[in-house]
Amino acid sequence: GSHPGNVAVVVRVRPQTQQEQEGSRHAMVQVIDDSMLVFDPEEPCLSGVFTGFRGHDAPKRRGKDLKFVFDKVFGESATQEEVFQHTTKELLDGVLNGYNCSVFAYGATGAGKTYTMLGSEKSPGIMYLTMVELYKRIEERKEEKSCEVLISYQEVYNEQIHDLLESKGPLAIREDPEKGVVVQGLSFHQPKSAEQLLEILASGNRNRTQHPTDANATSSRSHAVFQIYVKQQDRVVGITQDVQVAKMSLIDLAGSERASTTNTKGERLREGANINRSLLALINVINALADAKSRKSHIPYRDSKLTRLLKDSLGGNCRTIMIAAISPSALAYEDTYNTLKYANRAK
Ligand code: ADP
Ligand code: MG
Repeated sequence: GSHPGNVAVVVRVRPQTQQEQEGSRHAMVQVIDDSMLVFDPEEPCLSGVFTGFRGHDAPKRRGKDLKFVFDKVFGESATQEEVFQHTTKELLDGVLNGYNCSVFAYGATGAGKTYTMLGSEKSPGIMYLTMVELYKRIEERKEEKSCEVLISYQEVYNEQIHDLLESKGPLAIREDPEKGVVVQGLSFHQPKSAEQLLEILASGNRNRTQHPTDANATSSRSHAVFQIYVKQQDRVVGITQDVQVAKMSLIDLAGSERASTTNTKGERLREGANINRSLLALINVINALADAKSRKSHIPYRDSKLTRLLKDSLGGNCRTIMIAAISPSALAYEDTYNTLKYANRAK
């Protein structure tokens, strides 16, 4: 679209859980329309009760009540298909024309990142829906183009890269003048069907590094990077055609909550510091790309493993979509506010 630096930012609000609903407090996020939301909507009668003021004299409960505008806002009733249709699906034309692109799910643990990217067996997410759509498009043009699709699935954990589909030691990144960023020894796979892809994704996800922390027992401390490589060649008899390769990166980022909130020591603290380092580097890269003035100047890709890995998929002709996942629950107040502020800056 018309975004400087080709970065689009959307927000997805997940439904409240049963437990959150049973709490007495109202939702902290109100979706106004498909591009606007209000954070911490004021409730005059509540402010009155809390402060002793009544009616229009009542101060805002926390003085926030902020309106945010994004490229798209998905409310809690948005389906996986709708999120896919208005985000990643729009990038497929670019990939089929030879451009790399990337989609990130950003947000605190429990905000809905993995649900959005991976999903569940009953409602598979963006990774699966993208592959199904890609196979469909390739089938439609198979008379003109021969096409090969490969996938890889890796994680960045403590500034190290691990293959999620084959167990081996940490992998090194190399920059190839022709191939772009190459992860040495990374395994590539060719799913035979959509069902097999789901199995591959599920098994890869079981290999993700997860640790119970005080903040959340199933907190994900790693960045999961799913990449789809599309190799194409025109079918013209008798002439050798160039092979065109493009890749799409779909990333389920580690939780963005601050390490300090999880009461951690030693190993976990180092982990937290590295997560923040990669996320901070990503924020800096996205901000530099979104800031039209700095587009030609230095983009700090080298500051973390994650940004080095995605160097050839961010900026230039590469379109990027940031999906900020948030919970509307009062229990996630600070995390939601921080994610909205971050997403707002990335626009
Ligand atoms: P994260 O990966 O950001 O830590 P999850 O994706 O695991 O968060 O989501 C936390 C919980 O909320 C999970 O139980 C998940 O199934 C549920 N959930 C998240 N988003 C949605 C949604 N849009 N609709 C229904 N359930 C959701
Ligand atoms: Mg997750």
